[in-house]
Amino acid sequence: MTQNEILKQYFGYDSFRKGQEEIINSILVQRDILAIMPTGAGKSICYQIPALMLPGITIVVSPLISLMQDQVRALNDAGIHAAYINSTLSEGQIKKALSLAVKGQYKIIYVAPERLGSWDFLEFAKNTKISMVTVDEAHCISQWGQDFRPSYLKIVDFIEELPYRPIVSAFTATATSEVKDDIQCVLKLQHPDVFVRGFDRENLYYQVENTRHKTEFVIDYMEKHKNESGIIYCATRKNVDELYGLLAQKGYAVAKYHAGMSTEDRNTNQEDFIYDRVSVIIATNAFGMGIDKSNVRYVIHYNMPQSMESYYQEAGRAGRDGETAQCILLFSMQDVMINKHLLESKTVVEMEASDMELIKQRDHKRLQIMENYCRTTECLRNYILNYFGETTAKPCDNCGNCHREYLEIDHTEHAKWIINCVVETKGRYGIKIVTGTLHGANRARLKELHTTEYKSYGKLHDMSETEIDSLIHQMIADGYLYQTQEKYSVLKIGDISALKDGSKKVVLRTYQEKEPIDRKARKQRKTDKLTKAGFELFECLRQLRLTIAREEAMPPYIIFSDKTLIDMCVKTPSNRDEMMNVNGVGANKFDKYGQRFLDEIEKYVNSNNVVLSLELDAE
Ligand code: ADP
Ligand code: ZN
Repeated sequence: MTQNEILKQYFGYDSFRKGQEEIINSILVQRDILAIMPTGAGKSICYQIPALMLPGITIVVSPLISLMQDQVRALNDAGIHAAYINSTLSEGQIKKALSLAVKGQYKIIYVAPERLGSWDFLEFAKNTKISMVTVDEAHCISQWGQDFRPSYLKIVDFIEELPYRPIVSAFTATATSEVKDDIQCVLKLQHPDVFVRGFDRENLYYQVENTRHKTEFVIDYMEKHKNESGIIYCATRKNVDELYGLLAQKGYAVAKYHAGMSTEDRNTNQEDFIYDRVSVIIATNAFGMGIDKSNVRYVIHYNMPQSMESYYQEAGRAGRDGETAQCILLFSMQDVMINKHLLESKTVVEMEASDMELIKQRDHKRLQIMENYCRTTECLRNYILNYFGETTAKPCDNCGNCHREYLEIDHTEHAKWIINCVVETKGRYGIKIVTGTLHGANRARLKELHTTEYKSYGKLHDMSETEIDSLIHQMIADGYLYQTQEKYSVLKIGDISALKDGSKKVVLRTYQEKEPIDRKARKQRKTDKLTKAGFELFECLRQLRLTIAREEAMPPYIIFSDKTLIDMCVKTPSNRDEMMNVNGVGANKFDKYGQRFLDEIEKYVNSNNVVLSLELDAE
């Protein structure tokens, strides 16, 4: 079979995506390769297809057990014999798997890096034809990166133990130039072909909301996006627990995940999410490694993460199926403070003080870059791409900032009166008293405290108390004021030198949407091709998929992706040939599930004589 035939037969796709074919061709002419491709670009196929075409076995080294299991399940479901060997198997099971492998039962074997050094695995490898060693998440080999895994260093030893050298292919989604060099050197790649596929993920819509009302935002968002799968990341376990409690109490089907929970609870909740039993999971950054649920429609960051690398990776868990998805970051000044505090209190054992200092500096720089992302009025996508070293020409017209008109108003004069007022309070009162005083409110409490006798009393009469409140928060964000952390927090003066010498201004930023975000973001959604009836059919097919998933104890997205179901609604196939024409339906999948989906479609079409797709209409 040719690679195109394999793509169709096993994976059900008609054509390769950008970059995939070149990588496969390189491997097939026996070259080492290093491929850097963003999440969701389709790395797996790049080694799975050659694995089927090469004479011997391909060993895939992967750091994440859950990912391994998922991949192997998906491969077997597609009719490709594969196995994994990791710590979840007993010694007996490993022996059995290896003995089947020697007999040529599997074309692809996933293995945890720790296994490579074990005696029985080496014995097996030396006595079998290993055509290729694939290193997934190859950046784990670099000590420069955040995810360094010492066990990855064993890979080279393993390769060198083999009687002849197999092709070595390395894949990663994140690699700065240092990490890239590291992978090539440490893995001892031989004149590799290096492929770098841009970082841009066109289907992701980026948005930053500068808000102090995060919970309200989340609830409103969830109301508008019912039934959609989403991840909400929080900075701390406490945040997770609180938000989870609140949403669960309001009756939303949510799950939570953080490192403070028992392994059992974590696994259950993770599965609930993967199997679409709950649509939303609230989690710390402990969640997500190895999750390749493809139909995550949104990732909301409840707090700002510590670096652009983390953000890109976490937000990137949205839209792996290539469908439109939203990545929203809720920003408040408090996030910066929390993060600074977390960095300051971070201790690394056994490290020289000078190294420690370097790491701190680097962390603070990363944090600053992240904060700038939250504050920029420029195109958010370009900001991200530029950070990862790509040059960009024009704004993307597909992010929150591109859809907003920002307006900046100079409030420096008002700010000076706020400072005067806080000085007059001698730092004894909170925000409410200060805003009331400046506005000139007629309240008994103000008279009681004698703030009505202040020089600043009523000086900002032309602003509403809400506006004064916003301005005060901006000044807190700028560091001119700060709030104490006691129960009754009071307002105090911060560093105001830049205001005094006139080198800085206090600016309040407002904006107008050029077009409602939801309309714009949803514009290119595949489901928009469907009419209301088409959408109903889509829901029926989803239900059928869920039923099958339960029968087979398999995540729904492994059976068919949302994209494939939508394509079914658009094409409404009525026989095997037509069904095989649907994106994502391979021969094996058809034999397993095809008829049931055909039946469901027929049932729906017969009982509803309606137009299902706008696209066909237009043709
Ligand atoms: P990565 O490992 O790069 O994050 P995956 O290998 O998991 O990405 O692929 C992401 C999704 O894209 C999967 O659902 C996969 O089936 C799909 N995919 C990969 N290649 C193609 C293709 N040529 N056409 C359509 N879909 C594809
Ligand atoms: Zn943009």
